[in-house]
This record gives sequence, C-alpha cells and structure tokens, in this order.
Amino acid sequence: EATVERIAAGEVVERPSSVVKELVENSLDAEATRVDVTVERGGKDGITVADDGIGMTETEVTRAVEEHTTSKIRDIDDLESGVGTLGFRGEALHAVGAVSRLTITTRPRSDRDVDSHRGTKLTVEGGEVTSVEPAGCPEGTTIEVDDLFYNVPARRKYLKQDGTEFAHVNTVVTSYALANPDIAVSLTHDGRETFATTGQNDRREAVMSVYGREVAQSMVDVAAESEGSGESGGDEDDLPDGPLDGVSGLVSHPETTRSTREYCSTYVNGRYVTASAVRDAVIEAYGHQLAPDRYPFAVLFLDVPAGDVDVNVHPRKLEVRFADEEGVREQIAAAVESALLDEGL
Ligand code: ADP
Ligand code: MG
Repeated sequence: EATVERIAAGEVVERPSSVVKELVENSLDAEATRVDVTVERGGKDGITVADDGIGMTETEVTRAVEEHTTSKIRDIDDLESGVGTLGFRGEALHAVGAVSRLTITTRPRSDRDVDSHRGTKLTVEGGEVTSVEPAGCPEGTTIEVDDLFYNVPARRKYLKQDGTEFAHVNTVVTSYALANPDIAVSLTHDGRETFATTGQNDRREAVMSVYGREVAQSMVDVAAESEGSGESGGDEDDLPDGPLDGVSGLVSHPETTRSTREYCSTYVNGRYVTASAVRDAVIEAYGHQLAPDRYPFAVLFLDVPAGDVDVNVHPRKLEVRFADEEGVREQIAAAVESALLDEGL
C-alpha cells in the first residue's frame, strides 16, 4: 500500500518546483499578503514556504495532511464550475508528506472564528504523522519540506543538478510574484535572496524586483479589449475579433532582450500557463525590430471566456491549447503591435 501511495504522490510531486507550486498556491488561497520561499540546493535538501494567511487550527492541520481532504469544495456545483481557488483536489499536502519529511507550523489568524487560536506544529515522515504538538508561532503557516524523495530513491536520482532544479523553482515563484503584485513574494536560495517584491500592487514594481530596473523601465503597457466586452471605453486599444476578450500586461522595448524565450509569462484568467502560440505571437509582433536569436520580456494576462481554452487534460500540466490557436495568435500579435506603436516603436 505504501508503494502505491508513493507512486500516486509522484503524479503530483515531480520535482522541487512542483512542491513549491503547490505550497505557494495554498498560501495564496489562504489570503496571504506575504509569501516567503526559501530553498536549499535547488530545493532538494529543503523547501520552506512561510505565509501570513488565515492559518489552521490543530484539527484543521491534522485533516489537511490526510488523503483527499480539502477545505475548498463546499458542494458538487463547486466541482463542476471549477472553483475560484487554485487548489481543489485536496491531495497536494498528503502527497508531499508521503515522499518527504514535512513540518507544518501554523496558527489561525486572530480574526477567525475558531475554537482555539493556539499554534500547532505537526510533522509527517514518509506519509506517517509522527507528532502533533502546541507551538508558539506567529499567525499564518510555515511549511517545511526536507529531504524530498528520501524514501523514493529512483525519483531522487532523477533530480537534476541544483542549478537546474533551482531554475524551475525560480520560474514558478517568479510567475506567482508577477501575477500577484499585491502580495509581497520573496525567494531565497542557499541563503541568498534572489528577489523580493514589495506587495504594493504595482505591476511595474513587481517586474523591477524580479527582473531589475533596466527591464522594468523598458516595459511598455499592453491594454487591448475586444469591442463589446466590458463597459470600459477607456484607454484600451481595440482587439480584433477572436477568442480573447482582453489582453493586458507589459512587454519590453525591442532592444531589451535575452537569448532565451523563457521571459514570456502568460496568464489565462489569472492562472500561470505556458502557451507556445502566445510566445510565437509576441515575437511575431516585434518583427524585424528584434535582433536574431533575441527575445523580449513579456508579462501578459489573457481574458478568455470560460469554454474557449482547452486546458490540458492533466490539471497539473501548465501547457494550454486554445480551441482557436490562430485566432489567439492574431489577437496577441495585434495587441502587442499596437502597444509598441503607441510608444512610437
Ligand atoms: P487543496 O489545496 O487542493 O485543498 P492541499 O492538499 O493543497 O489541498 O491542502 C489541503 C488543505 O490544507 C487546504 O484545503 C487548506 O484547508 C489547508 N492548507 C494548506 N496549506 C495552507 C496554508 N498555507 N494556509 C492555510 N491552510 C492551508
Ligand atoms: Mg493546494
């Protein structure tokens, strides 16, 4: 049985960055205003995610590590409509606990109506709860994951070098930091802070914290809406007809580039995704302004009416396909082109 469980856990937990993704999503679901991520050796030796969210009571945290428990589905309608929170399957914490040494230290926020506001520390080792005890700690939740896959040697062996694993972690934390400029997000690797956003709800500020001043200052605003969507009539450019209702965000000056495509972050209805059609469209919009083998920075938020995106069958995969890829490509290219034109570029 333990083996089956460990294999199942592998579906959710592929590498350190998948743990980080689950933990950060939980912090965001818990209404955190700050999320601090600390990893050791690319996350292979240790991952800590600390938040100031709603926290958990002893009963709640004990339930949270059980199989298929979630506080986020209230009825079957939630399941069918795809709830507003990021997690809703109730398996992440359990799965992480099955393949690591997990410590959760948590205290319910004082404004919560619960039976006790005491702090609790719970430990899990290879799927077994090994201790639950009172703990003095601040409100919110700190989750520590040590020795990932210590009991699944085949998986442990498959992990890449520290630098590679950290690059994946960095991509995940960066994507949440850029999408949530109202939340202070920080990332520290082997004792060195990689970045920290301020949480002042300024997108350009978040870009500066993550990518640096030069990139942030070169960023051009993208704001395009399809006619008939929303009541705005503000400064938005018109979006040609297509699957998207709106495209907004920031793209860099054609001379502020890098040699890889990975600096194009895309969000569909607020959720971080990868979509090759989007990257291609952004690059296409720059045309000859880009030097050969150079790629711009982009942080793009796509408004898609529900039903028009085929989010890949596997809910944990990031790559999305659109029913009408060509339509999406045209709309994005148009939105980015008019943003560049507005700036005389
Ligand atoms: P899901 O997020 O799908 O509900 P998880 O296994 O990720 O499932 O988490 C289980 C439960 O633990 C959540 O539903 C939530 O109630 C609780 N939980 C997890 N992380 C936190 C956190 N950082 N703050 C408060 N509650 C949390
Ligand atoms: Mg979750």
